Amino acid sequence: AGFLAQRMERLTVPATIAMAQRARTLRAKGEKVLSLALGEPDFATPPAVIEAAHRAALEGQTKYPPVDGTPALKAAIARKFARENALDYTPAEIMVSNGGKQVIFNAFMATVQPGDEVVIPRPYWVSYPLIVQMFGGTPVYADCHEADDFRLTAAALEAAITPRTKWLVLNFPNNPTGGTMGQADLEAVAGVLRRHPHVHVLSDEIYEHLLYDGLRHVSLAAVAPDLRHRILTLNGVSKAYAMTGWRVGYVGGPVALIRAMTAIQGSATSGICSIAQAAAAAALDGPADIIAAMCAAYARRREMVVSTLRTIPGLTCAMPHGAFYAYPGIAGCMGRVSAGGHRLRTDEDFAIALLMEQKVAVVHGSAFGQGPYLRLSYATGDDVLKEACTRLARFVEGLH
Ligand code: PLP
Repeated sequence: AGFLAQRMERLTVPATIAMAQRARTLRAKGEKVLSLALGEPDFATPPAVIEAAHRAALEGQTKYPPVDGTPALKAAIARKFARENALDYTPAEIMVSNGGKQVIFNAFMATVQPGDEVVIPRPYWVSYPLIVQMFGGTPVYADCHEADDFRLTAAALEAAITPRTKWLVLNFPNNPTGGTMGQADLEAVAGVLRRHPHVHVLSDEIYEHLLYDGLRHVSLAAVAPDLRHRILTLNGVSKAYAMTGWRVGYVGGPVALIRAMTAIQGSATSGICSIAQAAAAAALDGPADIIAAMCAAYARRREMVVSTLRTIPGLTCAMPHGAFYAYPGIAGCMGRVSAGGHRLRTDEDFAIALLMEQKVAVVHGSAFGQGPYLRLSYATGDDVLKEACTRLARFVEGLH
């Protein structure tokens, strides 16, 4: 037996990180790489939010915070849930974590043991199965399809549930597909959940504000208030307010579970940076037009990217209704050979050849559990996007 714990064998490096690393290596060699690989807003954090952090630090908010979040931020989160999601979480039902990611980590550490299953719609954000597996749980995938705009259907969910299912993970708007779930979709999911009272739901709504085509986000717990005691509503400031580096996420859910998650967090981190929490409170209480301006830019970029992708022979692309990702299908390119002589057997071959030959970084769909697809993030400048699309089209034209 080696020194490292067995659980480390299950913790592989996500392909998203590996692809970013490849791009960095090329850049270090002086190549001009265009990256559509990152799941991160390119905007700066709003100045008013930064000023709130500055003020908090000067005012002495520099001591250990309460483990589950400062009263001021928890109050702002309660207002946010009430105002934007029609959810009435009390402060005892809310906790703040180091990004939404630590919410997931806390929740699964508190509940998942060997033998437990967690239903994850596929394609998925890689962290869900990685964290489940870390605690010895088994991910069970429910497939979503391009033809359904990558929505989870009641039938796919029903088929994935067993007596060992502990959780269903929902993520809408979705990373990596940009698909989302509307009221009717959520009602269908709730109908299945009512037949399986042992299943809890982690509803990851961190992209809620990034929605297009006039769609309005509805929370699962608001659609099915009778299931509220089985739902964790996850959110955070990373995506909506361009605050990925501040590391503030939060969750609303049943008190007993929140208490268990708080106990874990107390041992792990003693709570979240007090200054970042002050900034997050200012963001949540700030004017809504901050988000609207960023959203308008994403919407414009989405049009540009998707309409270009759809003109490229061999590519298909469902219209992503939310988040900042497009998820084009590249089945028409498989088996062909690139201008640079790379045979494209898989979507990973495609992504690597595209990076080598055209210096465009994307992530292959099989990294998210479903290929042959690519995930393109359009959270980047219009000029970069335009040029990247041109190079992608050139790459596909060069296939033989
Ligand atoms: N959920 C989804 C679907 C994400 O894509 C991300 C970030 O990439 C997160 C949660 C977590 O974000 P953070 O930890 O920055 O709050």
